[in-house]
Amino acid sequence: MPVPSNHNRRLRSIILVLLMLLLAAGSYIFIQHRQARLADGDSTAAGPAQADDTSVVPATPGGHDTTLADLGTRPDWSTLDLWQETITRDDFLRLLTEVYTVGDAWKRYIQVNADHAIIRTDTRKQDATYRLKFSHIISEASPNRNWSSAGDLAPGTKEKPLAGVHIAIDPGHIGGEFAKIEGRWFQMGDHQPVMEGEMTLTTGKLIKNKLIALGAKVYLVRGANQPVNPQRPDFYRAAAVAKARSLGKLDEETIGNFQKKFFYRTGEIRERARRVNLAFSPDLVLCLHYNAEGWADPENPSFTTNNHYHVLLHGALTSEEIAHDDERFEMLVKILQRTHDEEKPIGMYVAHSLGLGTGLPAYEYSPGTSRAVRIKDVPGLWARNLLANRLYQCPVVFLEPYVMNNKEVHDRVQLGNYEGTKPINGVQKKSIYHEYADAVALALKEYYLDHRIIYQPEAE
Ligand SMILES: [Zn+2]
Repeated sequence: MPVPSNHNRRLRSIILVLLMLLLAAGSYIFIQHRQARLADGDSTAAGPAQADDTSVVPATPGGHDTTLADLGTRPDWSTLDLWQETITRDDFLRLLTEVYTVGDAWKRYIQVNADHAIIRTDTRKQDATYRLKFSHIISEASPNRNWSSAGDLAPGTKEKPLAGVHIAIDPGHIGGEFAKIEGRWFQMGDHQPVMEGEMTLTTGKLIKNKLIALGAKVYLVRGANQPVNPQRPDFYRAAAVAKARSLGKLDEETIGNFQKKFFYRTGEIRERARRVNLAFSPDLVLCLHYNAEGWADPENPSFTTNNHYHVLLHGALTSEEIAHDDERFEMLVKILQRTHDEEKPIGMYVAHSLGLGTGLPAYEYSPGTSRAVRIKDVPGLWARNLLANRLYQCPVVFLEPYVMNNKEVHDRVQLGNYEGTKPINGVQKKSIYHEYADAVALALKEYYLDHRIIYQPEAE
């Protein structure tokens, strides 16, 4: 056998490379074909009427748009024109770095210059930016916004300190037949199941009546243990397939889990925010929750001795979150509306009142956490970026008192709602719902009495 010439050797390596390319292309086509079949199969399963519907799921043209939050839509950055030259550089930087972000990942998207900031608007394009000019003077007037701070309101009275204040109450989660799918259902032995969505609704109804008595106009975001979102998991098939694909996953379990989550959480919260913002334009939103601590075996919940409260304001965007064009835009609107300046004192009153009313210790995030920012000097008050406290276009106070799988809390939930007091471990206590609602109503009463002009007719 003659030794192969250099020429032959080169020819062989070229053929080898071509073969490998052919193989790669073949497997690519195979994967694409499988993905297409997966998507088609789904629309057929969902029925022809819904096959069309899936095409209107936002921000999923040809796949999951990783530059937006889940089910997010591309913002109209020209809206920010409303706030040109309305915030000083110092205020902008203070809010951006001390409240709204964790670490300095923001520098990848926002460049703060002497008299303006350059903000990236569409991270799919290198040169898409928005220029925000700073103000040289601190203005006394409130910035453009569709909500009123306590200081903006016409005078209230001692009896009606909340007169004319628009407050939306958002009872967290859904409850009822949806409590299991949303993972807000557990049962200890033969006791009544505990469903956070039902507990928050009971609490929300009590708070509503108390705030109306103080003069507020109140909008209960949901009045039953039913979703506000008219869509169901089937609707989110295409978005879920795209999201799973973006994570390199094609299995039915992952896709199904995203479909459910997009229904009960992402889609539900987005629909609540859409309705509240459009129909009610509140001055304040209260997001009601009860906390729980994890247990090892999902099938066997266990008690914890821990019990605590905390209150969340909007802020603390992580590096992943600020990378999303819509989340960065929504954060900027909060900064430019100076939302935190109203949200913080309300949050302080609510956190203080919850601590006193429940007698519980304040919850502490672990030191060095990258998802929460401590609000100075107020035990139990933190900033976090949650979908609900980001999307509502006004100050939002998000409450997390009580640990539902604490033994005493569980016992109190079993007693249900009642008037007056009952003995709990030898101490007379209100129902957990009244205790929660009273603390919230008292906090808001005191906040508006202290921060609003109160009209006092002269004594006769
Ligand atoms: Zn919750």
